[in-house]
Amino acid sequence: MQQQSSALEGGDDTYGFDSTLNGARHMDQGDRLAGFRNEFYIPILHGKESIYFTGNSLGLQTKSTQDYVLSDLQDWANFGVEGHFLGRNPWISYHERFPKMMAPMLGATEEEIVIMNQLTINLHLLLVSFYRPTKHRYKILCESKAFPSDQYALQSQARLSGLDPREAILEVAPRPGESIVRNEDIIAAISEHGNSIAVVMIGGVNYYTGQVFDMESITAAAHSAGAFCGFDLAHAVGNVPLDLHRWGVDFACWCSYKYLNAGPGAVAGAYIHQRHHTNPALLRLAGWSGTKPEKRFLMGNEFDPILSADGWQLSTTPLLNMSALNASLHIFQEAGFANILMKARRLSAYLFFTLDRINASCPRKMIDVITPRQEDQHGCQVSILMNEKGKETFDGLRGSGVIVDWREPNVIRAAPVPLYNTFEEVYTFGEIIKAILLK
Ligand SMILES: *Cc1c(COP(=O)(O)O)cnc(C)c1O
Repeated sequence: MQQQSSALEGGDDTYGFDSTLNGARHMDQGDRLAGFRNEFYIPILHGKESIYFTGNSLGLQTKSTQDYVLSDLQDWANFGVEGHFLGRNPWISYHERFPKMMAPMLGATEEEIVIMNQLTINLHLLLVSFYRPTKHRYKILCESKAFPSDQYALQSQARLSGLDPREAILEVAPRPGESIVRNEDIIAAISEHGNSIAVVMIGGVNYYTGQVFDMESITAAAHSAGAFCGFDLAHAVGNVPLDLHRWGVDFACWCSYKYLNAGPGAVAGAYIHQRHHTNPALLRLAGWSGTKPEKRFLMGNEFDPILSADGWQLSTTPLLNMSALNASLHIFQEAGFANILMKARRLSAYLFFTLDRINASCPRKMIDVITPRQEDQHGCQVSILMNEKGKETFDGLRGSGVIVDWREPNVIRAAPVPLYNTFEEVYTFGEIIKAILLK
């Protein structure tokens, strides 16, 4: 961790970046993952390959995705209903391949992972199990300005339990004049309200600021207050290292269309810590896919849950959706998650470095980076607060073939991702912004 402090100031940092175009190209030449870019379709803008920095919103399609989907479609054509058992990838057990593929990214055991439904649905299902308010312990603690879907989910869960969300939901906000929530403030809020908190539920990586929360210490604080602790990992999975099992996190959920590249509305995932798998007191909403396989087709009337995260499944697996996830996770396996993380850190450090140089060449500090710089407090995404010419910069970037996104009132989010973005793209991004600001 010591290296990080020298990376904080930008400029002369740990990586010793060379600020020239050649410097960027040199890093691309030395990049072991560079070849993976060719496994993806890069969107075309103004007649040429765009600089696509929105993998945090929707990851790109791998070139193999169509083959995976077509192959599973062919089994349906060939076998009809018997494809459940006779297909090349029998549908009945199709989902069982995923926990093994995802365990290294989540730091979870295979039994703790299930691929099912979509994100907000999974969040609701998990809250049914882990948010059981009582008269004295009824609060949900979350970060302020959580992703809107999460806010709506939490509010409606409070109402479902007959509570007023304004009383049940406790938000921890950044201090006045600051953009990110301090970890110490989250921990302090947990201990201050400890007796009344039923569950702590936080976005592992904030979608707006790109801040990675210290999930380990938050989980420990929640547990010592007697509360459950869960995370929405939509912006974390495939992006930052996770160690859910060791941290003792009770539950988590994520979507697969951001860093996991499984396509719009892709099948999502959930994690439930082992210690809860055999607890009969834990309420859950049940469906036939969650019951033990040997009993499922007996069509009995008694729900007998699988004693793993699979026991939270409700419905028949969405095959085509899973084919796309299968394609994209194969790329992660080929590249190796540790290699992906290593490049991600270098790429985002280079983006911080590039942004610092923009300020240095402007007459005033025209941009502020709100994403924390410390290596363990950010992933691929860097959020840039435009002090001047915000919309103009965003429009100018788009005009120059860069796809980033804009969040009101004045933030540009840019996420160079290691599997398909390059150092040269980050360099070009910086040059375009500089030209707009200096005009
Ligand atoms: C992307 C995202 C969502 C979206 O939820 P869906 O159910 O997939 O539409 C929800 N929460 C967070 C934190 C997100 O980043």
